[in-house]
Amino acid sequence: MYIVQIASECAPVIKAGGLGDVVYGLSRELEARGHSIEIILPKYNNMRYDHIWGLHDAYQDLCVPWYGDRIHCSVFCGWVHGRLCFFIEPHSEDFYFDRGTYYGCDDDPLRFAFFSKAALEFLLKSNKRPDVIHCHDWQTGLVPVMLYEMYQHHGMEHQRVLYTIHNFKHQGFAGTEILWATGLNREAYYFHYDRLRDNFNPFSLNFMKGGIVYANHVNTVSPHHAWEAMHEDCSFGLGHTLHLKGFKFSGILNGIDPKIWNPETDDHIPSPYSSATFEDKTLNQKALREKLLLRVCDKPIVAFIGRLDDQKGMHLVHHAMYHALNRGAQFVLLGSATDRQTNDWFWHEKHFLNDNPDIHLELSFNEELAHLIYAGANMMVVPSKFEPCGLTQLISLRYGTVPVVRGVGGLVSTVFDWDYDNEHPREERTGFVFYDTDQYAMESALNRAIDLYYNEPQLFQQLALQGMQYDYSWKNSGEEYIAIYDRIRHR
Ligand code: ADP
Repeated sequence: MYIVQIASECAPVIKAGGLGDVVYGLSRELEARGHSIEIILPKYNNMRYDHIWGLHDAYQDLCVPWYGDRIHCSVFCGWVHGRLCFFIEPHSEDFYFDRGTYYGCDDDPLRFAFFSKAALEFLLKSNKRPDVIHCHDWQTGLVPVMLYEMYQHHGMEHQRVLYTIHNFKHQGFAGTEILWATGLNREAYYFHYDRLRDNFNPFSLNFMKGGIVYANHVNTVSPHHAWEAMHEDCSFGLGHTLHLKGFKFSGILNGIDPKIWNPETDDHIPSPYSSATFEDKTLNQKALREKLLLRVCDKPIVAFIGRLDDQKGMHLVHHAMYHALNRGAQFVLLGSATDRQTNDWFWHEKHFLNDNPDIHLELSFNEELAHLIYAGANMMVVPSKFEPCGLTQLISLRYGTVPVVRGVGGLVSTVFDWDYDNEHPREERTGFVFYDTDQYAMESALNRAIDLYYNEPQLFQQLALQGMQYDYSWKNSGEEYIAIYDRIRHR
């Protein structure tokens, strides 16, 4: 099959969170199974150019219709760790992708509506006719809309779309000017509750809703979150739309790329290890302490890695820092804030805790350091309010770092509580789970983890090793994606 992914991220060249990992990892798995994959991305000025090989001009004069006029674009092509990627660069005074940031601009809906249009225009003009277009999250929600309403009439009538939702919280809201910009000119038709009009804000278009309505199939990134999105208040106002389109909605668990996330071969850690040489994990712990100037001691290291965003349960993360210190553990946090208030809050904490030798807060995005933390920490806290899948617990399991998680979304399906799990016998359990959103629930799970570490170190190690046995690579999920591609292609 010939599959084109259209996305706003692809790790490691463009990565703000799990979306980037998934686009890269799934593409590699599909290619390993003999499918042909291409990835279309924006050409941001701040992406990691050092991860692109052979970047060159692939298509020079792409004219993208926009607001009744057109924007001239260049399309570049290069390999990102073996994956063929096309990067779209618009030449306009709006500098859509020259902002020094991937997201967070006031005109994000316009930027990504333009990207979606440019990606389709590129496929059309360069005569690329994939069997399946796989697009992701709100940024590309207009791809299936424009494909069905416009581009199929220009020769793209056989292309089918899978739309994957990685996070329902960000849906892409905009006014009707987007319709004029993209050429979806019939306002009364498109700005209708059956199509793009938001279910709750009568003045707003909703990109994600458009993606759900128009795609041939829609999925989110774990079966449990698909259930939550339909039956609980987890789809941020799109529940009704999902119910109407439930026949084409499902959940597929994310995987992690075993080439990137593998403690046996990881270039970013000083002492590679496996379950057979698990004691070498302590060498990475030593290196982590040295790097972050933590006190050398026998305390366990509890870590948090993630976006500092309300979704991740920031109050619980904050509480976990102090609670871990009180319970005789060290704490390492790696995160970058998505809003100013949280940023200020954690910078304040960082200054406040600066002289404490048992804690380090690294407030940045640092892929290399993330690898060392996964390898050097003993426990990883993931106290998310909601979590469509979550990759940090999957990577932690792979690195023998015991996850302490809140039981929501993909966390439910991947972490099995050491003390209380009705479905898995002890030898299959992998971490600690709590359910309530208050600090006491988290404290009790973290206490159980720290107590086990101190009181029964053999059992703690057994638990870490049990987590390492699970295979959360793309093997199974890759197969499920192919089954969906096949189904929509033959429909
Ligand atoms: P989300 O997609 O909601 O951000 P996931 O758990 O699905 O969360 O994926 C997060 C990914 O981003 C993981 O690979 C994690 O290691 C990485 N990550 C998050 N924050 C940082 C950071 N500050 N520095 C390096 N890597 C990070």
